[in-house]
Amino acid sequence: MKSTIYKISFIATAIPIRLLASVTGQKAIFPFYHLISDDNVAHIKHLYPVRSTKAFEKDLDFFLKNYNPVELDVFFKLAKSGKFPKKNIFLLTFDDGLSQFYDVIAPILQRKGVPAICFLNSAFIDNKDLFFRYKASLLIDKIINKPLSLTQEKEIRKIFVDNSILIRDNTQAILSIDYAKRSLLDDCANILALDFSDYLNTQKPYLSSNQIQELRNKGFEFGAHSIDHPLYSQLDQAEQIRQTKISVNDISESFNIQQRLFSFPFSDVGVKKDFFDTIFDTSHSIADITFGCSGLKKDICNLNIQRIPIEIEQFSAKQIVYGEYWYYILKMLVNKNVLKR
Ligand SMILES: [Zn+2]
Repeated sequence: MKSTIYKISFIATAIPIRLLASVTGQKAIFPFYHLISDDNVAHIKHLYPVRSTKAFEKDLDFFLKNYNPVELDVFFKLAKSGKFPKKNIFLLTFDDGLSQFYDVIAPILQRKGVPAICFLNSAFIDNKDLFFRYKASLLIDKIINKPLSLTQEKEIRKIFVDNSILIRDNTQAILSIDYAKRSLLDDCANILALDFSDYLNTQKPYLSSNQIQELRNKGFEFGAHSIDHPLYSQLDQAEQIRQTKISVNDISESFNIQQRLFSFPFSDVGVKKDFFDTIFDTSHSIADITFGCSGLKKDICNLNIQRIPIEIEQFSAKQIVYGEYWYYILKMLVNKNVLKR
């Protein structure tokens, strides 16, 4: 549905954003990305489209033309007080703590004077471990580059069948492996002689602690993104709280960060109000503000800020933001703009 709206949103781009922002009351937007790169990123290329530096610069020009970039401090006060900004504002966020934030993104943002928050998985900083979805992408890349031998095919199929994965296509079967079954990806890697530790050591996909400190000194902000990136709707609430608490504490302490920010890995869909009541409990709160990714939308938990995912097919930020406003207006008509929990 949204994809169709993004496709046709260009028809209405003559309408100024300020009008759409004022009609909807949505003057603050929170676009979110993972990485920007002009290279071939093997651990991501089979998961979602990677945005080029050229496309990113174009996105930034669109944001800067229509919104004021806002520092975390200013946004933090607004969010905590529940007040709406008078001017259009935007705050960029980047999930997964990838090394491209240091190499590619930060220099562009500095040149353009745009602040940003980067969210880190506490288990992956310094390339200690690899997100299970990146393992899936690397496995698929390996299979594409070197087709399986008959023995490998047999062994891999046995893993799938033994674990009730009945998808015929190997790529789709690998992509279907979820957090609970993630050790199967290591089993597949053993069969293919694919060494994830070697990849972590040589490619260094994640930010190091030194890079994070250096970026902090330059004014970039950091928050937590869980310990090791599970899908929260598949966890019980005790584990959701544990993943949040440990990662937020770990990152706040390691980098001496005051504001405790957290962005949900994958999605916050299915996370219950009870969870938010616990983590925002004023007597012993676990986080100050959290971030979801349901697009332009209010949340019944008002300290959970919904962000707009920008890495969708080849759409520009302009198409996506216009589409999000039109989608919001459609939902306004049926009173469905607040995420209930
Ligand atoms: Zn993530």
